[in-house]
Amino acid sequence: MDRALWVTTYSPEETRILGAALGPLLLPGDVVSLGGELGAGKTTLVQGIAASLGVQHVTSPTFTIVHEYEGRYPIVHLDVYRLNSIQEVLDLGFDELLDPGAILLLEWGEAIGPLLPSKFLEINIRRSASHDSDDERPFQFRPHGTEWIPKLQAMRDTAETLLAAASENADGPRFSDSPPVPED
Ligand code: ADP
Ligand code: MG
Repeated sequence: MDRALWVTTYSPEETRILGAALGPLLLPGDVVSLGGELGAGKTTLVQGIAASLGVQHVTSPTFTIVHEYEGRYPIVHLDVYRLNSIQEVLDLGFDELLDPGAILLLEWGEAIGPLLPSKFLEINIRRSASHDSDDERPFQFRPHGTEWIPKLQAMRDTAETLLAAASENADGPRFSDSPPVPED
């Protein structure tokens, strides 16, 4: 059964708020894999997650591959965008990066799909030309492992409250159990 949740944001700030609704629910050992084209908003969401765990100034690890932060818990932020990064991740030792004491936030995680654990949170950001606004970003949250289902429910409740308070787009589509735009 697909228990995906969709949340649409309308600005980078809203995406950081969405991340801040998820961050406090994450625990060491959790793996979050982010998909979506370049500029979709993966790093922006990670910034919101990290800020809620006490880490500011998160930058893209596209060229450095991995950034490690010390917040409420250790955070490992990986980006496997570049073609040679899969090999580099293997060289770095993905098992080491899968530190049970750290939260792993992985951009372009699908590129190393077979290395991912069986339980993780998959997030996909879709952009479509049919969107009214360039800043509109539908986020799909797909739980892998039943533990993620209550976490997503809690994230939804928190995000609903925070986004309603911050939003200039209160009338737009926001939370949904199905894609907010037709699949192309
Ligand atoms: P990625 O890590 O997926 O390559 P980034 O988070 O680095 O993407 O960049 C997202 C870009 O899109 C930024 O320039 C940001 O300002 C812009 N943007 C516009 N609207 C949004 C939104 N709703 N959420 C996130 N980023 C947005
Ligand atoms: Mg990025």
